[in-house]
Amino acid sequence: MNYRITNRAASLAPSLTLAIDSKAKQMKAEGQDVVGFGAGEPDFDTPQHIKDACAKALADGFTKYTPAAGIPELRQAIADKHKRENGLTFKPSQIIVSCGGKHSCYNVILATCQEGDEVIIPAPYWLSYPEMVKLAGAKPVIIETTDATEFKVTPAQLRAVITPRTRLFVLNSPSNPTGSVYTPEETKALGDVCVETGVLIMSDEIYEHLLYDGATVKSVASFSPAHFEHTIIVHGFAKAWSMTGWRLGWCAAPEPIAKAIDAVQSHSTSNPTSFAQKGAVAALNGPQDHLPKWLAEFARRRTYAFTKLNAMPGVSCVNAKGAFYLFPKISGTGLKSTEFCAKLLETEKVAAVPGIAFGADDYIRLSYATSLANIEKGLERMERFCRSLQR
Ligand SMILES: *Cc1c(COP(=O)(O)O)cnc(C)c1O
Repeated sequence: MNYRITNRAASLAPSLTLAIDSKAKQMKAEGQDVVGFGAGEPDFDTPQHIKDACAKALADGFTKYTPAAGIPELRQAIADKHKRENGLTFKPSQIIVSCGGKHSCYNVILATCQEGDEVIIPAPYWLSYPEMVKLAGAKPVIIETTDATEFKVTPAQLRAVITPRTRLFVLNSPSNPTGSVYTPEETKALGDVCVETGVLIMSDEIYEHLLYDGATVKSVASFSPAHFEHTIIVHGFAKAWSMTGWRLGWCAAPEPIAKAIDAVQSHSTSNPTSFAQKGAVAALNGPQDHLPKWLAEFARRRTYAFTKLNAMPGVSCVNAKGAFYLFPKISGTGLKSTEFCAKLLETEKVAAVPGIAFGADDYIRLSYATSLANIEKGLERMERFCRSLQR
């Protein structure tokens, strides 16, 4: 039998972050003492009132199909969130709830990009963006950045790669994998270039609430009506409410794009899980007092890890202002990221994600969404590993 795989599917590599996370979990299950820095999810439990709202919905029999774009109550709660926190006015019809922020990104790209289109993605990037662009038949155009600019692109760099074929610019601030955050001024300046050239912006704001050292963010949609018209916001419940397994995210888009996404979703997944959506309503409308506690804990770990990493031979790290990742440069050890991570896992049983997965082979990604005790243990081992490479 010839199981011909389509070019579309065959061109994809499976997600390396998910692969490393499951390898580390498997080693752990075999009884090995693995320290995992691979996780792209908070280590805190979903707040109780959110779980209660979901459990109640389930007990009440809220178990049937909902509208493909989500229940009206949730779309309204999301519109209210954007009004309250971002000063943005979306009609509920502009909000589409999907099966995770990742799904929302994919829907946006499918609805806006096709053969012949180019999508500008700054590197280091979240590893799914280029693959999604390829699935849509379009071409990723990568802008390289380094730690020297805190992994940020300038308006001039953006302008230089815009062509008549450019359809979309992907902005992710705070960033996965680097944790870097564009200031409101920098965000506006990138938005200005897109407005001027008629390029749409997909603004992935899923780490909006995870900020440190007094950093602030402002949605690129919020600077003017023109910025608003050029922006599609992607967001979700995974990070700030620790709901990764719930599979719930959303996009907030200009009406015609929202309509197209609704249609795509109605023929692919249909609605996100009914009772999970009730939990999401509670997440947005309920108390947010979990967040300062989580942020204080993340900040404590980040400071420890940042200091420790910079004391390792061959390693240097800029401090992240958001999300829960550090992205140290490891090229001073003499290794590239894949070999570094493979050897680190083999010799010291520490799991980290090679930067090559994010388009940056001189770096690795460490998630500090794990206990301080784990971080101390894991970084002690990594330090020993880096020392061993010096000899
Ligand atoms: C985690 C994440 C998402 C969304 O994840 P879901 O689990 O699908 O909600 C989107 N963008 C970035 C950059 C992320 O890190």
